[in-house]
Amino acid sequence: MSLANGRPLLAMPGPTNIPDRVLPAMMRPAEELSSDSIVTLTETVLVDLKRVFRTDGETFVYAANGHGGWEAAFTNVLSRGDKVLVLESGRFAIGWGEMARFMGVDVEMLPGSWRRAVDPVAVEARLRADTQHTIKAVMVVQIDTAAGIVNDIPAIRRAIDAAGHPALFMVDAIASLACMEFEMDAWRIDVAVSASQKGLMSSPGLAFVAANDKALVAHKRADLRTGYWDWSGRMNVLAYMKHCGTAPEHLLFGQRAALDMIFEEGLEAIWRRHTALAKATHAAVDLWTSGQALAFGVTEATERAPSVTAVLTPSVDVGVITAFARDICGVTLGLGIGDYHNKAFRIAHMGHFNAAALLGALGAVEMALQAREIPHGSGGVAAAIASLAAAA
Ligand SMILES: *Cc1c(COP(=O)(O)O)cnc(C)c1O
Repeated sequence: MSLANGRPLLAMPGPTNIPDRVLPAMMRPAEELSSDSIVTLTETVLVDLKRVFRTDGETFVYAANGHGGWEAAFTNVLSRGDKVLVLESGRFAIGWGEMARFMGVDVEMLPGSWRRAVDPVAVEARLRADTQHTIKAVMVVQIDTAAGIVNDIPAIRRAIDAAGHPALFMVDAIASLACMEFEMDAWRIDVAVSASQKGLMSSPGLAFVAANDKALVAHKRADLRTGYWDWSGRMNVLAYMKHCGTAPEHLLFGQRAALDMIFEEGLEAIWRRHTALAKATHAAVDLWTSGQALAFGVTEATERAPSVTAVLTPSVDVGVITAFARDICGVTLGLGIGDYHNKAFRIAHMGHFNAAALLGALGAVEMALQAREIPHGSGGVAAAIASLAAAA
């Protein structure tokens, strides 16, 4: 028997659940592309993104997914043959580095682990050894969605400073913006990247990049610049140029509505909500793991991301759990990717997600563990409820 009919729930780390208020905002006719309403829409989204990134720098919107945002970021500040240091912490940091390598960047990977956050001491040591300052940029992911790791961005900034290194600091905030603290200017991040379909609660299809003055100076001499991604072209006063062509109007209408919701709740409140949902998830997983069939992906509790939790399944067929959740309960969990392919599932608690959604997702996992007789410590969902009750 299936109990999956009813509203489906996405508990995967992107795309995430799109709020009911955002969907109808997109249900409207297209408009003349330089009409006052589209010009204003573009301007308000660009300005409000500064509030979300917490920057006085420039913001850019692209009709692209997160991968496009990655390419936009490095092509605007790097040149062929430039060396960059990518801080490994799971699939996404590696992927960003691979894309840069594809375009002729000399990518050095600072080896890391899927189970621990980037070690700022190792970053400092590597940068100190670069006495000629050949490394032009340090690239890191704040929340590596594949591993469920949160990296300590301020600590990595301090490591770069302690080494006295002038490299640009580039951060992927795709799975962390509007989920946890992100302070582009206070943390002196030079280039930040995000996308519409995770914490920003709207349709996949928009990438966002923010750049500070240091990045704009680097931009002037970058030779990887291409017409579509180019910041200079997009800093033009003409609305048409800000999109390098026709605005992705409907995606912008949706993102506008989602940004309104974000400011109504308040960024700090959103961060607290994500923290509470993550803690409750960890409380549940902690009990389940005592059955020895499941394990936390990230070994240190403080390094577990507030927006997604990776659960390793060393001795069970993970497809049994994810299929049960989807087909019997109507809950879509995240699958393991990269090193975790077929070895983990991920519970996302990201974006438009509340206590009810979380308990539904955790309940589906616990139901699967019971129904499929997978060894686990009982009481996970009850522990999550206790955690949420204490937080509230
Ligand atoms: C989802 C994600 C990406 C990739 O975004 P796409 O829109 O799928 O291209 C990159 N980095 C992180 C941290 C992500 O979570």
